[in-house]
Amino acid sequence: MPATVLDGKLVAAAVLDEVRGRVAALAAAGKDVTLATVLVGDDPASATYVRSKRRRAAEAGIRSVHHELGADATQGEVTGLLDDLNNDGRVDGILLQLPLPAGLDDQGATQVIDPVKDVDGLHPTNLGRIVLDRPFLAPCTPSGCMRILEHYGVPVRGADVVVVGRSFLVGRPLALLLASRGVDATVTIAHSRTRSLPEVTRRADILVVAVGRPEMITSEHVRPGAVVIDVGINRSDSGRLVGDVDFRDVARVADAITPVPGGVGPMTVAMLMRNTTLAAESRAGG
Ligand code: NAP
Repeated sequence: MPATVLDGKLVAAAVLDEVRGRVAALAAAGKDVTLATVLVGDDPASATYVRSKRRRAAEAGIRSVHHELGADATQGEVTGLLDDLNNDGRVDGILLQLPLPAGLDDQGATQVIDPVKDVDGLHPTNLGRIVLDRPFLAPCTPSGCMRILEHYGVPVRGADVVVVGRSFLVGRPLALLLASRGVDATVTIAHSRTRSLPEVTRRADILVVAVGRPEMITSEHVRPGAVVIDVGINRSDSGRLVGDVDFRDVARVADAITPVPGGVGPMTVAMLMRNTTLAAESRAGG
């Protein structure tokens, strides 16, 4: 039987509906929700990402205020702007579009953002809260993966989960969320030094792949009946948007699988809006 397709667009729409309701409740209590977006430099892909995040914000009733700095901005100019936004009482969430242009320090800039406004969830305080089993503003892509599993009722407690990729953005925080108390998966993290990757990944009831290599995971890596979450977004040689998983090959053996596009991608933006709402609620004392 072909695998069930786990539809990220559908789950993202459900998250955005929930966000709209919460934003409306805040508005009824006299509190607007405001997201500040910061774009540094002139990378077209980054500009496109920021535009689509602002569009989603508007659809959810979130006001967005956009700030741009030139490609020649200094680290001091970036942190100065972030400081101003930290101190601006109208701003609930700050989105600094990464990566910054060459020569600027992404992590250094992220650490300047007030953790209560860090809607990307990448400040060390928010990453550290995951280690402490008290997540607040968790990174958007990992929480998007969690929400897909929850939405489709994929059994996670006690399941063997293999996460391929250990970046601070995706793999590592996701592995911690999956292994947290109450979620209770048994998690293996694989990476570029993992020996016999197919043997490791074939142990997984749930396989999550966040590597950045087009279609590297094939049916050889997947235990029949597994659930596969593909975080990767890559351009194939022919210019097609593809994941880290060879969808057609793996769909023959998996029980369920996320597509690319239309899987984890839409969830990332939806969870950003959810974090912005959470930040606003917490600042409003909710
Ligand atoms: P990253 O920082 O480059 O990390 C890639 C990870 O993959 C590293 O841990 C690396 O291992 C591991 N890796 C590389 N080659 C491998 C191999 N042959 N076998 C096993 N592991 C290997 O990437 P990232 O930021 O996590 O992003 C990963 C992918 O997700 C990219 O395609 C990115 O575009 C996509 N992404 C999508 C979304 C979304 O919204 N859907 C959001 C973020 C990222 P080492 O640590 O040993 O180097």
